Amino acid sequence: MAFLNKIDHIGIAVRSIENSLKLYVDQLKMPLVHREDVPERGVRVAFTQIGESTIELLEPTQPESTIAKFLEKRGEGFHHICYAVDDVNATLKALEAEGATLIDKEARPGAENKLVAFVHPKSMGGVLVELAQPMPK
Ligand code: ZN
Repeated sequence: MAFLNKIDHIGIAVRSIENSLKLYVDQLKMPLVHREDVPERGVRVAFTQIGESTIELLEPTQPESTIAKFLEKRGEGFHHICYAVDDVNATLKALEAEGATLIDKEARPGAENKLVAFVHPKSMGGVLVELAQPMPK
């Protein structure tokens, strides 16, 4: 099943995007390419460019959001890897058929005008996996 095209982005949980941009933009010299508030997920995100991939910084905006809980438990750091695919729903089906535990049963709108879905880390070697495809026109 050849359906993972490339690394779309790597998600990093942070307490403050403003503070983290000092590291990623000022020190590591990655251009800031996109910022977005995702109120329905209780998170705001910023993307910095690295080659053809990006780093997604995720900052909680609500104490009940999954990112807030993640920070409480694990602190700042690596949160998820996102693979670019042609078809999120087809990939979810294929992974589920092979026994993967899905967090999202089907693709939903995510940041950067993409369709996304998450796969549980317990079936992905301890890594939270996001799948993303461009929003169909
Ligand atoms: Zn992501």
